Amino acid sequence: MTVQRVRKVPLRKCVGCQEMKAKRDLLRIVLSPDGEVFLDPTGKKSGRGAYVCSQISCLQLARKKRALERALKTSVPDSVYSRLAAQMQGLAPDGAGAEGAAGRPQPQEGAGR
Ligand SMILES: [Zn+2]
Repeated sequence: MTVQRVRKVPLRKCVGCQEMKAKRDLLRIVLSPDGEVFLDPTGKKSGRGAYVCSQISCLQLARKKRALERALKTSVPDSVYSRLAAQMQGLAPDGAGAEGAAGRPQPQEGAGR
C-alpha cells in the first residue's frame, strides 16, 4: 500500500483545547438516541457526536468548561465525565499524558493491552 493520495483530512474540533485536528487523532464521544453519553472508539455509533483529543487533560478541560454539554446539547453529569476518563485511560496505548496530571479517578493498572 504505497498509494499516497493527497486527500483532505476531515478535521474536527476538540471540545477541550478547541484545536482542529484530524478526526482520527481525536476520540469521539457520542450521545446515543436514548440519552447515554459514552466513548465511541470506532466512531461509528449513531447519535450526536463530539470530539476530544485522546488525552485526559482535554477531557478535564471540557469538563471544566462544560464544553461537552454544549456540544451534545444535553446535561453531562460528573459521573459521565469520570466514566469517559476511565474509558479513555483504558484506551491509552501506554498511559501517555497520565503522568503529572491531576489525580486519576481510578488507576487501572495491569490491564495489559
Ligand atoms: Zn484537545
